[in-house]
Parts: sequence; structure tokens; C-alpha cells
Amino acid sequence: MKQRPSFPARMPAGDAPKGKASRQGPTPPPGITLPNPAIAPKPDRPKVATAPPVPAGLGLDSSAVRANMVRKLAQGGLSDPQVLAAMGQVPRHQFVDSALVTQAYEDTSLPIGLGQTISKPSVVARMIELLRQGALMQADGRMGRVLEIGTGCGYQAAVLSCVSREVYSIERLRGLHDKARDNLRPLRLPNLHLLFGDGMLGYPKGAPYAAIIAAAGGEAVPTAWTDQLAVGGRLIAPTLTGNGQQALVVIDKTPQGLHQQQLEAVHFVPLKSGVA
Ligand code: SAH
Repeated sequence: MKQRPSFPARMPAGDAPKGKASRQGPTPPPGITLPNPAIAPKPDRPKVATAPPVPAGLGLDSSAVRANMVRKLAQGGLSDPQVLAAMGQVPRHQFVDSALVTQAYEDTSLPIGLGQTISKPSVVARMIELLRQGALMQADGRMGRVLEIGTGCGYQAAVLSCVSREVYSIERLRGLHDKARDNLRPLRLPNLHLLFGDGMLGYPKGAPYAAIIAAAGGEAVPTAWTDQLAVGGRLIAPTLTGNGQQALVVIDKTPQGLHQQQLEAVHFVPLKSGVA
């Protein structure tokens, strides 16, 4: 896998910790505390200096708009307090193009460039909630080390970083890997590590994972992913089913073996091999 130093990676890839996913990771650099304080409310800002004026409701009071989104997610049946809190904190409008900020808190998927899309908030929340119901958890109620395949613009990675000890997120498109790094820089999430490479191979150096989540749909779940999942961990991936449609597939790795469930139909961009 090709790799390059990427913000906010704090750990050279070769130094990725080994061992049980629920074990405590390396000591964070001085001055940085875990769990991350990174997304404590702070004044929002337009994405670039030349961006058009931030629309009303997406400026300094974007937390109110997010709270409204969270209310709707809860009304829609999402109930995990940690996930809802994370959805209320991560500034989704900072991950989309400035022309789309007015739609950032609607329950809709949006283009992020290079033919890819950011999933709608209800799908992000649903998948992370499902993951947490079966992942290896720490005593503090967060997941252990999580692998995300398909960083895209970095939004879901940011949400994951709020509810996990550590997150590795891989993207195969250089342009999006760079964009995610730029989007995430102001949030300063020391427990989130961005990787450039083919996520179909997983990321063995970080294994075993408490949880694995894919943001792109493949024809089958690669064995690399189930191999890298810890016993007691959970994997969730949009996958092609018998009728040619995509559905969410949940795989639990138990001491007795893999236990697979097929849940609701979804529409994700395709999982592709190689990098570009
Ligand atoms: N979670 C993302 C959604 C991104 S869309 C977000 O919040 O924005 C899915 C992403 O998966 C795309 O960026 C696509 O390039 C990426 N992808 C597809 N196949 C991949 C692979 N084999 N390895 C890594 N990323 C992959």
C-alpha cells in the first residue's frame, strides 16, 4: 500500500500499534488529551477566504442547525446518545463545497468531487450506531480501534473519531485523501489517522480492529477485512446481494466464527481496487 504522511496522523504507519484492539494505544503527544477535545464548539468560518457569505443559520449558530438535524435523527429512530452527540458536534458544512453548505444539514447525500458522495446523515448515524452495538468496546463506552474504508471528504471519519479510541481511515483517490486532510485539519483530531491506499486490502498494521466500516459497496466483503477484525468485533459494509441490489451487511466475529446478517437496502458508491 502506498503511504504518505498525512495530517492528522500522529503515528508513522510502520509504528501502528499491534495487539488487542481494546488495549490502550500509544501515549498521545504532550499537550493533547484523549478523548479528543477537538470538536468543542468554536467559531465557524467560511471554507475559503473567497467563499460567498455564509448563509444564515450556517455561521456562528451552526450548532443550532446541527441540533435540529440531531432532533430529526432521534425522531427517525436513532437513539445512541454518543452517536447523536457526535453528529451534533461535527460541522458537516465544513466538509462540503461552499456552494452546497445550505444543504449540509439536510438528510441528503451530496457530491464531494471525483464522482463520489458524502452519505446522508441518517445513514452515517445508523451505520455507526449498528457498529457500536457489536464492536469491541472500551470501559469508557467508546469503540477500540476502528478501520474505515473510504475516507471521502472525511466527515464520517470525524464522527467515528468522537466515539472511538482510534480511527484509521483509508482512501484510494489521492484527490479526496488530500481534501479530507484539509477538511479535518482545523478540527485537530489526534486519534484519527488518514491513509492513502487500497482499502480492499484493509490495513494490516493496525489490526486487529474492534470495528470495521466501509463507505463503498463491493460485490463481496474482502477476506482481508474479516481477517483483520478482532474476535468480538463487528464489521459493517454495503454489499451487493443476490438480487443485484446493495444492502448493509453486518458481520460479527465470534470465537465460533463469522456470523452474518443482511439488513436494509442502501445506495453507496462502488468499492474499487487500486489507487488513483
Ligand atoms: N465516508 C465518506 C464517504 C465517501 S464515499 C464521507 O464521509 O465523505 C466512499 C469513498 O470510498 C469514496 O471516496 C471512494 O473513493 C472510496 N473508495 C472506494 N473504493 C475504495 C477502496 N478500495 N479503498 C479505499 N477507498 C475506497
